[in-house]
Amino acid sequence: MEQETEHIKCLIIGSGPAGYTAAIYASRADLKPVMYTGMVPGGQLTQTTDVENYPGYPMGITGPEMMENFRKQAERLGTDIRYGYVSEVNFSSLPHKVIIDGIKTVLADTVIISTGASAKWLGLASEQKYSGFGVSACAVCDGFFFKGQDVAIVGAGDTAAEEATYLAKLCRKVYMIVRRDEFRASKAMVQRVLNTPNIELLYNTETKEIVGDGQSVTGVTVINNESGDEQTLNITGFFVAIGHKPNTDIFRGIIHMDDTGYIKTAPGSTTTNIEGVFCCGDAQDHIYRQAVTAAGSGCMAAIDAERYLAAKEHIVTA
Ligand code: NDP
Repeated sequence: MEQETEHIKCLIIGSGPAGYTAAIYASRADLKPVMYTGMVPGGQLTQTTDVENYPGYPMGITGPEMMENFRKQAERLGTDIRYGYVSEVNFSSLPHKVIIDGIKTVLADTVIISTGASAKWLGLASEQKYSGFGVSACAVCDGFFFKGQDVAIVGAGDTAAEEATYLAKLCRKVYMIVRRDEFRASKAMVQRVLNTPNIELLYNTETKEIVGDGQSVTGVTVINNESGDEQTLNITGFFVAIGHKPNTDIFRGIIHMDDTGYIKTAPGSTTTNIEGVFCCGDAQDHIYRQAVTAAGSGCMAAIDAERYLAAKEHIVTA
């Protein structure tokens, strides 16, 4: 089958807050952006319920509704939004070559990577069942909904330690479920956890099942992996903090990234080591991971792309 090829100014890969914000700015800068949404149009926020910390929504909004608004805004300003998946990239020469769904070739003068990250989950059926109804992978996003209540968090890295202390400020009690007899988190973070009186540590403990009433979480059954003892903790919120995986596999070996796959960008910018390729949102941020910070970096990526093209045009026409 003959491949279809098209040449565009700006390609945006991924459709979370970073990608849509890049699309809004790139459209208004007349870069005529084309966005490929990826497998999860709207990104991680489509898998959450209420969003109360995104400025501009005084009464809060659901994640799916918010992403629908992002999409409509980008579309109204002229972004060509397409359902498709980038299956291969070749950034070895300009324009950059990107293959969509294994069949279509797009040549792009600039590429904005906004493929996001995915939270790692334990893989329990009950975890999936109550996701957004008591089960969350983001304490900063959802902790507020459990104010004054008892919750549990699983994980023992820096994220889990940070989120446990965050939750401890809001909640009555935080059970921290650690599968080994020690933390992975840094000493300073562990000390913060140990100094927080309403965090109860459960070492050598694994999650067996999340318990609920069909509507929301009511508890969690945990098992001590040394003694085999089981107990059910009465909680209303269950937080999973066992790491994230950036969705950057297709760029591996092609673009500079850290050991865990986060794409490296120059400090204070979205530029990568490849000319004309910019990265924003969770694909390059393992620290903040918020919708609003992703959106902010999406804006930066579009401005970086626009300035890059303007500078090139200036050189060509000078
Ligand atoms: P990490 O990979 O560092 O830690 C993941 C934790 O989850 C580990 O304790 C691991 O246990 C546990 N875990 C993994 N799978 C399971 C499972 N199936 N059941 C139970 N527990 C599980 O991820 P983080 O998100 O914590 O951190 C990612 C990176 O970001 C790190 O480099 C971290 O230092 C950094 N970071 C830095 C911060 C800061 O500086 N303020 C804040 C947050 C993150 P085990 O130890 O047994 O493998």
